[in-house]
Amino acid sequence: MKKVLFSGASVIRMEEKKCFTEKLDLLTNGDYIEKLAPTGKIKSSEYDEEINCKDFFISPGLIDAHNHLGLEPGDEYAQMQEKDAMIALRAAKNAGVDLLSGVTSMRTLGEKNYIDLEYKRAFAEGMLLGPKITVSGPALVATGGVGWYMHQEVDGTEEIRKAVRQRLKAGVDTIKVMVTGGISDRDTDPTRCYFSQEELNVLVDEAHEAGKPTSAHIYGGVGCYRAIEAGIDAIEHGFLFTDDMLEKMAEKMITLVITPSILSSNPSEGPEWRRLRLAAIQKRYLQVLHKAKELKITMAIGSDCNHSPYFFNNLLCELKNYGMKPEDILISATLNGAKVSGLGDTGQIVPGKKADLIVLKANPLEKIEALREVALVVKEGKVISRRA
Ligand SMILES: [Zn+2]
Repeated sequence: MKKVLFSGASVIRMEEKKCFTEKLDLLTNGDYIEKLAPTGKIKSSEYDEEINCKDFFISPGLIDAHNHLGLEPGDEYAQMQEKDAMIALRAAKNAGVDLLSGVTSMRTLGEKNYIDLEYKRAFAEGMLLGPKITVSGPALVATGGVGWYMHQEVDGTEEIRKAVRQRLKAGVDTIKVMVTGGISDRDTDPTRCYFSQEELNVLVDEAHEAGKPTSAHIYGGVGCYRAIEAGIDAIEHGFLFTDDMLEKMAEKMITLVITPSILSSNPSEGPEWRRLRLAAIQKRYLQVLHKAKELKITMAIGSDCNHSPYFFNNLLCELKNYGMKPEDILISATLNGAKVSGLGDTGQIVPGKKADLIVLKANPLEKIEALREVALVVKEGKVISRRA
């Protein structure tokens, strides 16, 4: 296995709630981090190649914890009427763009016809350029629920049990359920709960029986309480959550995967029903983010269906304007993202973990905008892109 020394860098180290930099040499062995040592202490006989990182900062690669590679903003229904091949090609294009921006891992939460399982394999085998992926397959949705045209409609406990088992058989990493309506679909209600308590209990129990985590798309309303009662592991969005809902999440230590790009959506665009929904969300979400931080809820971050160069990086920079500190942003986008994605072998610069790294020109702990200047992207020990 090829051993590469990243020498002289300031390495960003991370513990549960804190981040700091340390001047270290980082030695990789094939796809993993073998050793960290004070600068100059690793002998030249120990490595095959040296990449001089003096004056640079090394962070864990970014982890986008909520994504749909086959979707882009706009008419989702129309995109999902295209042939699977076109959706897969779009996913491949987006994956390359996201990886080159420094997103080395990604949790995708709903693609039509299990396309996600196929692209996961293509990226893992090196056939195409893309991050390391964990997948849910099509989400479970009640008949007529949000995104029914790309997910699987299920009603009643027995259909749910079967749908979960189909996913386990197919080999997904997580079970995703659309508990409430959303913003993208006029005919759904963002605060209505589309599943009964019994249905959600079966979904979570069946997944947990097989050792798989569960995740729920919830905007607000009673669905939050039902999902928590059922034992859900993560909640996506939480746009319209009340303080009480967030307190319950904190109590049960449920991860909130935030999708804050909605805060920068133009409130005067689109049809009136959408504008009204967006305005209500934008007003409440700032308070939700603030309260979640105050309650020390574990947060991870997702760009949802947005893909363009440095989209996720820019999204992280924007979080500063919503009251998050650089170290909290970075922990959410690496360590917490890895945990909620079930990727225990990445998200932190520690010997034994995968060498998923980004090399930056400045210190993101001092200035989060440093995430926009990625000099090197390293995925599993391989340099994917080099800009300096
Ligand atoms: Zn989503």
